[in-house]
Amino acid sequence: MTSDPETSSPVRLREVISAMPDYQPGKAAAARPGVRTYKLSSNENPYGPLPSVLAAIADGARSINRYPDMAVVALRERISQALDVPVECIATGTGSVAVLAQIVQAACDAGDEVVFAWRSFEAYPLVTQVAGAKAVMIGLDADDRHRLDAMAAAITPRTRVVLVCTPNNPTGPCVHGDELEAFLDTVPNDVIVVLDEAYVEFVRDPEAVRGLEVWRDRPNVVVLRTFSKAYGLAGLRVGYAVAHPPVASAVRKTAAPFGVNSLAQVAAIASLDAFDELSERVDSLVAERDRVVGALTDQGWKLARSDANFIWFGLRAESTAFAEACEAAGLIVRVLGEDGVRVTIGEAAANSRLIEVAEAFGAR
Ligand SMILES: *Cc1c(COP(=O)(O)O)cnc(C)c1O
Repeated sequence: MTSDPETSSPVRLREVISAMPDYQPGKAAAARPGVRTYKLSSNENPYGPLPSVLAAIADGARSINRYPDMAVVALRERISQALDVPVECIATGTGSVAVLAQIVQAACDAGDEVVFAWRSFEAYPLVTQVAGAKAVMIGLDADDRHRLDAMAAAITPRTRVVLVCTPNNPTGPCVHGDELEAFLDTVPNDVIVVLDEAYVEFVRDPEAVRGLEVWRDRPNVVVLRTFSKAYGLAGLRVGYAVAHPPVASAVRKTAAPFGVNSLAQVAAIASLDAFDELSERVDSLVAERDRVVGALTDQGWKLARSDANFIWFGLRAESTAFAEACEAAGLIVRVLGEDGVRVTIGEAAANSRLIEVAEAFGAR
C-alpha cells in the first residue's frame, strides 16, 4: 500500500474511502442587490419552527449539561403511539440518512450488493460505498419511475438490501401499492427492502404504496421516515426506521452512541404533538405544488408527477442553463449531473418566481 500522493501522508485508509470524492458543499446564494434569494435546493420546509416546538427546545436547553437519553425512550414511545407500532420496532438515528447507513452497515459485508433505482437519492451510493458494499443501480423508466421488474431481476445471492424511494427524490413519482406487492412477492425474504418515505406526508396519489401497511405483514420490509421535511426539523437531525424487532435491534446496535441529541428528541416529540398545525402547513405546500405544476403544464412543460415537496425538470444537457436562469432570478436550485434540475416548493413568492423563470426559459 502506498501513501496518498496528494498529501504524501503515510496513513492507511480503506481503499473504498480513499476512492470517494470529497463532499462538495452546495453553492451559497450570491447576494444580488434588491433581489431576495430563496434556497430551493435541499427540499427544506420554508416554514420556521412552531412556537410550541421552540418552547420545547428552549426548555430542553436547560439540561444540555446531561447526556441525551441513549435509548431515545420517550421519542420512540411517542412515535410508537402515533403510528400504532410496537416501540421495539422503532429505531432512531441522526436523520434518516444515518438510519439508512446503519441498516446497510448491519446487513452488508464487503462485496455484498445494494440494489436501488437511479437517478434517486444522492446518499444511496455513498452509504453503500462506505459500508464496502457494491451499488447496483437500475435506471428509471421513461416516466422517471422505478422499474421494479428490472430491480427484481438484478437481485443475486449477494444482494442484502434493496432501496425503494417513494416518492422518488429527485424525480417525484411514488411507487404504487399493487406494483410494490408484486415486487415483494419475488424478493427472497432474507433480503431487506427499505421503503424510504421521506416525503410521505406530501403524497396525494391514491394508488401510492402505504409503507406501514406493507411492513406489518413482511418481516424483511423496513420503513424509513424523517423529521427533516414535513416536520421542518432538518437542522436538528432526527429520523427513524420502523422495522421488525431483529432488524430494529440491529439498527440500534450500529448507531453512534448518544447520536440523537436531547434537543432533537424533545423537538420531535413536540412536533408529533403539534401534528395538526404542521399538517396545515403541509397542505399549503401541496397546494403550492399543485399551483406550480398547473402553471407549468399550461406553459407546455411535460413534467413527471410529483408527490413530494419538489419538482423535477428532466432537462438533460440544458440543466445548467436552466439552473443559471433560476439563479439569475434569485432561486438556488439543485442541478443533478446532466439529468435534470430539482426545485423545492418554497415560499409562495419563490414559487411564483419559478413560474416566471420557466416561462421565460420556454417549455420543454
Ligand atoms: C431528505 C431525505 C431523507 C432524509 O434525510 P434526513 O435529513 O437525514 O432525515 C431521506 N431520504 C430521502 C429520499 C430524502 O430526500
